[in-house]
Amino acid sequence: MKIHFEASACVGHGRCYALAPEVYDADDQGHCIVKFEVVPPELEAQARAGAANCPEAALAVEDGLSGGARAASARPSG
Ligand code: SF4
Repeated sequence: MKIHFEASACVGHGRCYALAPEVYDADDQGHCIVKFEVVPPELEAQARAGAANCPEAALAVEDGLSGGARAASARPSG
C-alpha cells in the first residue's frame, strides 16, 4: 500500500496522526507528515483509517503494493 498526500489540501486538523500515529506525524505547524513511502502490511489498517478520516481528503491510500513485494528491485537477466 502507498499513501498519496496532497500537501496543499492539508490544513492541519491532525485527525490523521491522532488516529494513526505510527503512520502519520505532524510538522511544526501541525500539518501531516507521511512516515512511509510504502506502508508495512501491519500498519495498513492505520493508514486507511487516517486517510479515511481526513476532512480535507488530503490523503488517499493505494492498495496493491505490499511493503515486502516492492522491496526487491528487478535485476536485469543475463
Ligand atoms: S487529517 Fe488531513 S488535513 Fe488534517 S493534518 Fe491530516 S492530512 Fe492534514
